[in-house]
Amino acid sequence: MSSSHHVISVIGSLNVDLVTRTARIPAGGETLTAESFDTGFGGKGANQAVACARVSRTRSQARKGESTDVEVRMVGAVGDDQFADDFLKSLQAGGVETSKVQKLPNQKTGVAVILVESQTGENRILLSPGANYNVPVVDLLQPDTTVALFQLEVPIEVVLLNMKAARERNIVVILNPAPAIPLPEDAYKGLDHLIVNETEASILSGIENPTSWNDVASVFINGGVQNVIITLGAEGVYYQTAARHTKSQPAKVLPARKVKVVDTTAAGDTFVGAYAVSVARGATSFDIDAAIEYANRAASETVQKVGAQSAIPWVDEVPSS
Ligand code: ADP
Repeated sequence: MSSSHHVISVIGSLNVDLVTRTARIPAGGETLTAESFDTGFGGKGANQAVACARVSRTRSQARKGESTDVEVRMVGAVGDDQFADDFLKSLQAGGVETSKVQKLPNQKTGVAVILVESQTGENRILLSPGANYNVPVVDLLQPDTTVALFQLEVPIEVVLLNMKAARERNIVVILNPAPAIPLPEDAYKGLDHLIVNETEASILSGIENPTSWNDVASVFINGGVQNVIITLGAEGVYYQTAARHTKSQPAKVLPARKVKVVDTTAAGDTFVGAYAVSVARGATSFDIDAAIEYANRAASETVQKVGAQSAIPWVDEVPSS
């Protein structure tokens, strides 16, 4: 395999978002007419795959189907319903390879039914995981994989088995444990990169209302994680590495960029995707400061646009400094 060709495999979820906007949420037994209805493609897995693909190619490269140095492969499952083909076509058009997305017979594609109350902007979301919860518990990684990226919207058994398989083959592992559920100690041993937001950091470390991110990071580093990244929303990002921790060097915090925030949906997914691209390109010379800086820049673009996948920037839309 050429050192300038990197394969990121994203093992995760694919959900169709069905979004209805309404002046108010209907009461039990009541029927209301909605203000608008939209469909979108989402799921943390698919969003992060799209983020990896977009921040490593231009829109025009994706449109022409040109290959770039970063190949992004979605690994997961859809159903055999009308949503499946549209979803896969949309991923392919965005530069994501879909041959490892299984179409499961007699299953439904994952669906998120989202009611947005327009007066308050508050969301109510009902998730039907469908095929995502039937991803088979087997080794799903192809031998050419450079980086394996996981979230927790597919069965935990799938994640644990494939993280182990990846480590045995020296594939770099990134875990974004969202939504957070307590993980076995083994999950952290030798884990290369852990990316969590504030809520996930607290749940997974077992430290309620943390007063110091250092305490939280220490829990993960002592558990065997090499690089701990805690995204802090509008506050930016905290990060610490096992190497610096061992030498008693302080953690770093990079402030978020000052931008006009419109919608923070998919900011976290953009951050993770952009970070994963730097990890894939870094191979033996990974520079975490540069990776965090790039991810912070990419995510700052996403918050300035409405929507999820559609708000993720292409490489030429990420500000250069
Ligand atoms: P999640 O959506 O997973 O909770 P965060 O809210 O922590 O993730 O955001 C992830 C990253 O997105 C942040 O670390 C930062 O880089 C960027 N970001 C989030 N909110 C803002 C904001 N208000 N202004 C600028 N950047 C932001």
